[in-house]
Amino acid sequence: MQAGEPIPYVGRFAPSPTGPLHFGSLLAAVASYLQARTNNGQWLLRIEDIDPPREQAGASKDIITTLQRYGFEWDGDIVFQSASSDAHDRALSSLRKRNLAYRCRCSRRDLANAPRSSLGIIYPGTCRNGCDRGEAAIRVRTDDSEIAFEDILQGRVAHRLESESGDFVIRRRDGLMAYQLAVVVDDEMQGITEVVRGMDLLDSTPRQIWLQQLLDFSTPHYLHIPLITHANGDKLSKLTGAPALPLDAVESTLAAALTELRQGPPSDLAGRSLPEIWSWANKNWQPGQLRRLKTIVKTS
Ligand code: GLU
Repeated sequence: MQAGEPIPYVGRFAPSPTGPLHFGSLLAAVASYLQARTNNGQWLLRIEDIDPPREQAGASKDIITTLQRYGFEWDGDIVFQSASSDAHDRALSSLRKRNLAYRCRCSRRDLANAPRSSLGIIYPGTCRNGCDRGEAAIRVRTDDSEIAFEDILQGRVAHRLESESGDFVIRRRDGLMAYQLAVVVDDEMQGITEVVRGMDLLDSTPRQIWLQQLLDFSTPHYLHIPLITHANGDKLSKLTGAPALPLDAVESTLAAALTELRQGPPSDLAGRSLPEIWSWANKNWQPGQLRRLKTIVKTS
């Protein structure tokens, strides 16, 4: 790249195949897609299929079909995260070799009384200096330096991991790689420069930045969109009964997503074709409309 050339934008959507996409997932997909397209960026699709116990048979295929039906066009081949397990293992062993990660045999019960912060439980460091043999999770060491980043919508976010989360799990006790490590490795391997996703992952970001720093990876820009909730305040999710996205009525559902994303589409947009809706969205995308909103209450 020549000096002065703009840095290429590479964005992504990274659903886990734990069930079909619902309206909340559509908002994250639309926001990441429009943010990439309006920055002349690439938009990659990565299926995060590394947690078989939580996965639902057929969900990956269903997610892909649904995205196609809504008119999303990803660049390149779909990446299945399970295919990068060697890279996850390499990252893990690099941390272990440098004594930046250690085995931990603490069970949920052992940690039941651990103090908590806004990031969750604060690991008290029980196994920092070694633990018995046997099945163990692996935790990465943290320190108390400030990890701060400027979220494009939410502003400055800063945490001190050692006192707010403590050393955190990067490989689970059941041997599966933890989301925090896998996502960092895959974002690096795919050259992701921009992460657009839901606010539920805002608190994970400092842990991911910490891992990027230890592994000498680059840190993308982050934009976390507000979470959509039911009228009673519960997050829209499979657990709270959010239905799968419809495969008919895609035009009106996409237009409704643009409304919830505060883009103010004209009232007749829902009656137009998908290409027309996407074309309107591309011309009018203003993520700033969501600035500093924490939640969106679903209106219909
Ligand atoms: N796979 C995660 C999920 O479906 C999202 C990962 C990310 O965007 O960082 O919640």
